[in-house]
Amino acid sequence: MSAQIVEGKSIAASVYAELKREIPELMHKTGRRPVLVSVYVGSNPAIEVYIRSQNRIARALGIEYRWYHLPDNADEREVLRRLHQLNTDPEVTGVILQLPLPSHLRRSVLVNAINPTKDVDGTHPENVGSVLIGEMRVGSCTALAVMRLLDATGIDMEGKEAVIVGHSELVGKPVSLMLLDRLATVTICHIATAKRGLLAEHVRRAEILVVAVGSPEVIRGEWVRPGAVVIDVGINQVGTRVVGDVEFAPAQERAAFMTPVPGGVGPVTVSMLMQNTVKAFRAQVSKGREAEFGVNRTE
Ligand code: NAP
Repeated sequence: MSAQIVEGKSIAASVYAELKREIPELMHKTGRRPVLVSVYVGSNPAIEVYIRSQNRIARALGIEYRWYHLPDNADEREVLRRLHQLNTDPEVTGVILQLPLPSHLRRSVLVNAINPTKDVDGTHPENVGSVLIGEMRVGSCTALAVMRLLDATGIDMEGKEAVIVGHSELVGKPVSLMLLDRLATVTICHIATAKRGLLAEHVRRAEILVVAVGSPEVIRGEWVRPGAVVIDVGINQVGTRVVGDVEFAPAQERAAFMTPVPGGVGPVTVSMLMQNTVKAFRAQVSKGREAEFGVNRTE
């Protein structure tokens, strides 16, 4: 067997096609435009690549994209001031704080400072909590990308053995909750699983395998269950090559569907950021209209 490769680019293209229809309609109805603002602290070439690509894609869709670059030594108060300014600027409809941050800055303090209605990365505790209770407002872009890729395979997730490797707040945890919401039987593996030497045992059971570790080819191809769906989130630079967290060639021999690295989760994640930006914009303008027409809502 050789896995069908699930290409992220074509899935992202279909998301953009939907947004290209939706954005002009929303702009026409509201007389406003979605404005996405990126806050980047420090110096990280990978983040600069992401910002350039976000800017290019946003503009092609009709979303205005701006970014603020703060120096490596920016202190927390300075970043908080900038976030507060964006929170209160009525023109700005979406805010993304580029991660990772320099080590002297506390991620939780800064992420919590973003107005949850403008948090298009889905990292604010209110938005994270909405996923937990099954009433998602805005989800983590990478986790949404994983789900979109899984949906593209046509697999029925109900009752399936799903194994997630990695329990980060950005990827592993939200993916686990979203899979649970689809009634998959979810196992979450992490560093302690690996330390006990139990990773292979769990991976061998997985009908759905999602790996988000950040360690090149840490999942051996021979561990992959025949017929599994494998979503490899990892991006690792090894010399001049970019590889995933799963050993690609032998895993591809066994899996039914597999995402490539690069070209799998990455492009879909950017498309989910754009989708979240439009979702936040739509929610803000409809709230504005409710206020205008005197509609009271308790949330
Ligand atoms: P992270 O915050 O560093 O989390 C990595 C997770 O893997 C942690 O839960 C860690 O556990 C666990 N882990 C580390 N070594 C392990 C091992 N040997 N076996 C099992 N688990 C292990 O990273 P992240 O933000 O989730 O990102 C993971 C990878 O995905 C990175 O390569 C990143 O670049 C990539 N990524 C890609 C996209 C995309 O759009 N394609 C988006 C986001 C991230 P402990 O915390 O307990 O050590």
